[in-house]
Amino acid sequence: MASPFPVSLGSETASSRKVSSSDILVRHTKQDGKAATVLPEPGHNNVLITSALPYVNNVPHLGNIIGSTLSADVYARYSRSRGRNTLYICGTDEYGTATETKALEEGVSPQQLCDKYHTLHAQVYKWFNIGFDHFGRTTTPAQTTIAQHIFVKLHENGFLEERSMRQLWCPKDERFLADRYVEGICPKCSYDDARGDQCDKCGQLLDAVDLIKPRCKLCGSPPEERDSRHMFLRIDALQPETEAWARQAAEKGAWSSNGRYITESWFKEGLRPFSLTRDLRWGVPVPVEGMEGKVLYVWFDAPIGYPSITANYTDSWEKWWRDPDNVRLYQFMGKDNVRFHTVIFPSCLLGTREKWTKLHHISTTDYLQYESGKFSKSRNIGVFGDKAGTIGVAADVWRYYLLANRPENGDAHFSWREFIARNNGELLANLGNFVNRVLRFLAKKYDGVLPPIPEGLGLTAGPEPLEVRSEDEDKSPFATLIRQVNAQLRTYVVAMDAVRLRLGLQTALGLSQRGNEFLSSVGLDNKLFAERRAECDATMLLAVNLIYVLSAVFHPFMPETTDDMCRQLDAPPRTVPVEDRGIVDLKDDDEDGSSGGESSFQARERLAKPRFALDLLPGHKIGTPAHLFKHIDEKMEEEWRVMFGGVQSSTAAAAGGKKEAAAAAAPPMSKNKAAKLAKEAKKQKKIANPTPEYLELERQVGEQGETVRKLKEAQKKGGGGGGDNDVKQTEVDGEVSKLLKLKNELQALTDQLSSLEVKDGEGQAQASTA
Ligand SMILES: [Zn+2]
Ligand SMILES: [Zn+2]
Repeated sequence: MASPFPVSLGSETASSRKVSSSDILVRHTKQDGKAATVLPEPGHNNVLITSALPYVNNVPHLGNIIGSTLSADVYARYSRSRGRNTLYICGTDEYGTATETKALEEGVSPQQLCDKYHTLHAQVYKWFNIGFDHFGRTTTPAQTTIAQHIFVKLHENGFLEERSMRQLWCPKDERFLADRYVEGICPKCSYDDARGDQCDKCGQLLDAVDLIKPRCKLCGSPPEERDSRHMFLRIDALQPETEAWARQAAEKGAWSSNGRYITESWFKEGLRPFSLTRDLRWGVPVPVEGMEGKVLYVWFDAPIGYPSITANYTDSWEKWWRDPDNVRLYQFMGKDNVRFHTVIFPSCLLGTREKWTKLHHISTTDYLQYESGKFSKSRNIGVFGDKAGTIGVAADVWRYYLLANRPENGDAHFSWREFIARNNGELLANLGNFVNRVLRFLAKKYDGVLPPIPEGLGLTAGPEPLEVRSEDEDKSPFATLIRQVNAQLRTYVVAMDAVRLRLGLQTALGLSQRGNEFLSSVGLDNKLFAERRAECDATMLLAVNLIYVLSAVFHPFMPETTDDMCRQLDAPPRTVPVEDRGIVDLKDDDEDGSSGGESSFQARERLAKPRFALDLLPGHKIGTPAHLFKHIDEKMEEEWRVMFGGVQSSTAAAAGGKKEAAAAAAPPMSKNKAAKLAKEAKKQKKIANPTPEYLELERQVGEQGETVRKLKEAQKKGGGGGGDNDVKQTEVDGEVSKLLKLKNELQALTDQLSSLEVKDGEGQAQASTA
């Protein structure tokens, strides 16, 4: 397991290690700084990153992971590899009714339940190499202190109002019952087992007081209605300033269009007061006299988890959270969480009349679906974090796949076929191939030592960036490569600064593709080495240094792989080779000339200063080359689909199909049925923009299917007695094989078109979310 931070290869420079001593080159690692605590420094780029706190009572699935923690991790790693002061905070959200009821079901205390699931969450993220600076939890004294402080300030400033609510009270248990603690008959469909918050049969959202014949879930006795006093947040009174703040923040922090849209729709509807308190035990006590036995609403205190978890990381937490002038806050979450971060939490902070670090950039994702349906824990469908490790595929491959499919504009779909195709076709054939081919050649022909710089090719050793004098003057493969690398680096940093992670990853992959093309254009082989040594030497110097660049640009996405690349290069982890002009706010760089029809993205791209240089110097000796990725057999697609398809419990499959485990496996379903379902899933893969060719093929498949169906029917009727009406088996077989051929063609076209759609996705962003 790689450390969440880049490996420190030690500052003692081996004599065989010849690396440019430029101080902006080396990426500082956590192990370097003896004081492990990261604190903001005035006047520097201080980046505070959070991912939505996962609710504690379940195991996160792949959709949850890409939606918040993994995306935030990529940005945090990128930010560190630009030399920025970065803190990444997350933890489990543990209070509330859902935990209390689940603990009741499992027969443990809420604290025990939280302990169990907190550990589980931490293990999952560790396996995925999510590099939090601190992964904490909300059930701590710091949470109580900070949440109560904010609540009291809101009260003092007149933003809280006491109101009375009709609620159900259990005389036997002597407590008010939260909606989930009440069951009864649904007033809409008469289902007699409806929960107080929702009817499972008709889906109607309910208020417990609406249930017919309600009963207490704890003891079964009928509750009575009583008045309960609660504190309401006058969020309506704060709306004008929250709105003004949000508009400005959205501009400055370049919020995604769906982030803006969701936020605006809340303002448009008008904010309404809501209760900040609950009749529950599992929570932060309400710090108001006469409200003993009540706790703060979990959605009020959940975002307070960010500062309180930071307070458990360092006593100087206020340096991060109370200094909006020196800290930029980046928050990552799924789209369902947006309003809590752009409207409710900022309103609460504004209402304290104190200085708080508020949201700078919000990064939201849509949903990741599993194959053609939803992840479901109860039906055992889809890959949950604790099971990803059971199929023997490295965490980095999972990370790569999820990030390449990050649902940035519309929902995305997890597909085993694509998972395998991306590993074999992109990681192995593109990145892995380039790195291995170059390093093996150097090891074999040069004994692993970089040659001296050949004369007359315009190359200079680092730290000076490689330069190409003019495009017309030099069209050599060397000059072409240098130009291409610098251009791609520009796009990469601008994409990553704007948190367009998918584009960043595509650009990184484009860089290794340029590398492969470079090797082809110079014709790297034994003959080049024997007959045109100067060119061969230049090829090695540039290619090995490109690998060093790749180790930096892929680091945020695949940290174990890039640690491995650095080991094979025997070089310290490095920064992205682009001069840092600081984080430029999109609206701040107007004076730099984003006018004249040039988009802000293009303007920043033009201003970025890449510095591809020969930082691994002549005489540097590399380590031992090894393959970075493993080929995955295409046959595994069907196996994994069955394994994770809700057909058989994945634990049973992982245990090698032990009988008892198989017997315990949830829904009984035959193998045939499973295969059929998998087939259906394949069939249902929809093409958003079908071509005429596709539509025609689809029609032919339908027509041929009908022919086969009719033929089989006739065959049945004929009874096979040898009469004139008998349909010969050979005829049926012939039509069936025609059908299969058409279906295969359609499948191939579907795959081809859907792979194009993945690539085109970026460009469609604005259209689909506008
Ligand atoms: Zn109902
Ligand atoms: Zn009761």
